[in-house]
Amino acid sequence: MWLRPTRYRSSNGNALQIEVPSVHFRDWIQSNCMDKIRDAVNQTHGTPLNVEFIVGSEIVGALSAEETATAETLPGVDHFSTPFNAKYTFENFIVGESNRFAHAAAMSVADPESRAYNPLFIYGGSGVGKTHLMHAIGLRLKEKAPHLKVLYATSEQFFNSFINTVYRAMQSSKVDPTSFRSLYRGVDLLMIDDIQFFIGKEGTQTEFFHTFNALYDAGKKIVISSDRPPMELTTLEERLKSRFMWGLNVDIQAPDLETRIAILTRKARAANIAISPEVIFFVAERVQSNVRNLEGALNRLQAHAALDNRSISMELAQGALVDLVVTPSGPKIQVDDINQEVCNYFSIRLHELIGPGRQKKYAMARHVAMYLCRKMTDLSLPDLAARFGGRNHTTVLHACKKIERDLQKDTNLQNIVNFIERAVRGANS
Ligand code: ADP
Ligand code: MG
Repeated sequence: MWLRPTRYRSSNGNALQIEVPSVHFRDWIQSNCMDKIRDAVNQTHGTPLNVEFIVGSEIVGALSAEETATAETLPGVDHFSTPFNAKYTFENFIVGESNRFAHAAAMSVADPESRAYNPLFIYGGSGVGKTHLMHAIGLRLKEKAPHLKVLYATSEQFFNSFINTVYRAMQSSKVDPTSFRSLYRGVDLLMIDDIQFFIGKEGTQTEFFHTFNALYDAGKKIVISSDRPPMELTTLEERLKSRFMWGLNVDIQAPDLETRIAILTRKARAANIAISPEVIFFVAERVQSNVRNLEGALNRLQAHAALDNRSISMELAQGALVDLVVTPSGPKIQVDDINQEVCNYFSIRLHELIGPGRQKKYAMARHVAMYLCRKMTDLSLPDLAARFGGRNHTTVLHACKKIERDLQKDTNLQNIVNFIERAVRGANS
């Protein structure tokens, strides 16, 4: 991976020059392979030569280690074009207090005559309608001005496509990174979704920076979405962040109660789901976080009703959504709450639960705690591993699997787990 992209550049009596794709390659090779390289040069050449590295400036800016690693594993994908989701239109977008401003700005960008708000930077939590609005812009602009070139890419697609062309260009002179560049720089509107994914990917940021400048200078439109405002994209290059501030930054909040009711009503009607205003209110009051979860709740009600061949009553809703709904003021369940209840149950101390002790009593309690944390919080395995004394995340996975398996046959364990789970929920409400 590190050596294959290197090239012989030139040599004279004292020095051998090797071309490398980036400073990361140079640094890695210098700290890991210099002895072997010197030996090989010595053997081949007969006398020692200085080995110098030239960073192949004509190829690309520096790639981060993560980018280089990805380049190795990425299949040869070609340039893509994401078709817009025909349902993500402005007509289907329900406007409320939480998204009014973002919606208005998006409408303006979608107007071929308008030059306002460039770039438009939309940010907000997951499932609040960022992607929907971007698709709506694309669909509207294509409809009003079919000759315009509109490109929507997730930042992952941009990243993959960039790495692919650039990496292939490093390996073979036949691949030309300009194809990638002309694709992205030749559009009238470029939309990049979830830009927070660029964090830590320096080469991609540099490339995007140049893409941005080329488009901006040519008076083309740019729309970007992110899960947080530009200033909070901590390790994103300053020059990129400052460009994001040039245009308009708008946020989308979680929908308020009226909007949630409106969304549920509209979506139920569109899907031909018979549901009373009381049940809509019940769902809207309990599912607060985002629109995606509202849709999920509605789908679930419909599925339950279809399975049992019943209509959607309040009783059915209460049953079907029992684990999905969050009590309106109920705080999120924390790892600490779970661990505390586990410690109470097993009469051990927190440091014994988290610590390295392998006695059966600790190990059992630890497995139960890991299982419940996995079940009751939305932390990832690596996050959980970190909360359990920096263990490996596969340890957490094994613990969860083990408890899941044992729960199938061990009624005593079932009682323990249920008891602790109830205690956690009780302490939380
Ligand atoms: P994000 O990109 O912010 O994570 P999405 O745009 O993917 O969220 O939205 C999640 C789901 O919720 C989609 O199915 C989308 O159509 C729907 N949705 C979000 N906001 C609205 C809205 N204001 N009106 C109607 N549907 C919405
Ligand atoms: Mg999205």
